[in-house]
Amino acid sequence: MNAYSNSIAIKSNTRFSIIDITDKINETIEKLNITTGIVNIFSYHSTSSIIINENEEGLIKDMENTLKRLIPDENRYYHDNIDNNADSHIRSMLLSPSESIPVKNRKLALGTWQSVFFIDFDGPRSRTVEITVLGK
Ligand code: ZN
Repeated sequence: MNAYSNSIAIKSNTRFSIIDITDKINETIEKLNITTGIVNIFSYHSTSSIIINENEEGLIKDMENTLKRLIPDENRYYHDNIDNNADSHIRSMLLSPSESIPVKNRKLALGTWQSVFFIDFDGPRSRTVEITVLGK
């Protein structure tokens, strides 16, 4: 068993971006030459999240609309007095900064309808996600 890590760069183009990073993670696992193990995907940013879900265009719009309905853009947030992005922090807080996924046969062992997404709640920005793999 060994441990490996690699950062990946992600560029969001809009304020709220749901970006499929499955291929980038699989490329990293392949580059690190890991056959079997577990991978952790971790975002360094407090206004972003990592999720696993289905990559379907309508569902992605539904996710965005639901999060915006639950956490409105404007809500007299205290933090908006500092940098005007409280909605982004709170949307991020409802989800998670990381996910762990098994690695089998040199790639993510995901279900048929599962993809890994990085969500940027406060773009457009350049972001960094850490890929840590324990395996062999
Ligand atoms: Zn902030």
